[in-house]
Amino acid sequence: MSYLLPTYGRFPVTLVRGEGTRVWDDQGKAYLDFCSGIAVCALGHSPDVLVQAIQKQAATLIHCCNLYHIPQQEELARVIVEDHVRIPGKVFFSNSGAESNDGLIKAARKFGHARPQPDGSPRYEVLSFTRSFHGRTLGGINATGQDKVKEGFDPLLPGFRHLPFNDLGALAAAIRPETAAILLEPVQGEGGVNVATPEFLRSAKALCEKHDLLLFLDEVQVGFGRCGETMAWREIAAELEPDGISWAKGMGGGFPIGAFWLSDREIGESIALSSLLGPGSHGTTYGGSPLACAASLSVLGEVPNLIDNVRARAAQIHDTIASWDHPLVTGTRGLGLLVGIGLEVSKMDIPEGKLPAIHLSAELLKAGLLAPPAGPETLRLLPPLNVSEEEVTEALDIVRDTLSAMTTEPAA
Ligand SMILES: *Cc1c(COP(=O)(O)O)cnc(C)c1O
Repeated sequence: MSYLLPTYGRFPVTLVRGEGTRVWDDQGKAYLDFCSGIAVCALGHSPDVLVQAIQKQAATLIHCCNLYHIPQQEELARVIVEDHVRIPGKVFFSNSGAESNDGLIKAARKFGHARPQPDGSPRYEVLSFTRSFHGRTLGGINATGQDKVKEGFDPLLPGFRHLPFNDLGALAAAIRPETAAILLEPVQGEGGVNVATPEFLRSAKALCEKHDLLLFLDEVQVGFGRCGETMAWREIAAELEPDGISWAKGMGGGFPIGAFWLSDREIGESIALSSLLGPGSHGTTYGGSPLACAASLSVLGEVPNLIDNVRARAAQIHDTIASWDHPLVTGTRGLGLLVGIGLEVSKMDIPEGKLPAIHLSAELLKAGLLAPPAGPETLRLLPPLNVSEEEVTEALDIVRDTLSAMTTEPAA
């Protein structure tokens, strides 16, 4: 008997301890963790820098609320803007990815009031993309381009439309007078690990300039080193200048924190975009507590040192899997240490009624590897950014052997 709402179908394991890339269950069995709490534990489990930062700040001041000045917020915002985004702008701290996206959606609506339609009525529409994922709040599910997160929750909010991802023509044709912003993931994580093309990002930016729209990037899963460059979009189109960015997941290394950034770019009559959310327009009780910011500062300080490892381990993963020429693998996708392994489901031995990627995740778990699905036909690898070459080799051996045991045809 459990008193938890049954919102999750959970894998049959109880994890009680972690260290680096390994976790242990309540029976003492060890696992390699290539899930990292869904791209959260960027430095692995309980890394010294994070543990020490949390212990020190917890013993000093845990929370004080946003009615007062919080120096850790000022410092974390400075680090994010100067070292990571490297475009002038301002930051708001939240507690999660969905909340950060809600903040961006609110900013789009403020912008739509400041820069209305020719007839004076506000613009409000946010364009996003099929197979996207933007979180589970009402704003998040409405922005998300997947029906499954919306089922039973209608009426849907007005002001959202979804277009095919990486389709330049469809995006250009979709813009109408009420459109205010474009929201996209540089790499779609939950939707199957789909990387935006450089042409798509550049044409989205050009359309924003032409039609006076905001370009928002959801870097909740991919930001802060996950994809190589500290910001994922730079790995695709380095010169791109977004108007807003949302983050969460990896930025706290496991401590809950999210954030969004708005550019200082002038949107007319010497008004900066970053000034639109003024006093009283947005808020949070927990967001940006001294403890959360101290945790995040310790993680983000390490990220620039890990970029070379992210690139090297990513190349190792893609090259190794390609070398198998495995009948169950259609190919690999992704950027940095967000890797999707496409599955040839027609050749997989799957029990009746099970989704192939979920079944594979369950089999990998038995073999000692945590790796989550990304959609029904893709396995996702999300190791910590400091994963070692030996750990990657060990994990990929488990993936190959598990796939071979699930093949309905003789393995290659
Ligand atoms: C996980 C995720 C979210 C939601 O983040 P939460 O912290 O679960 O609210 C939003 N966008 C993307 C791209 C994500 O991967």
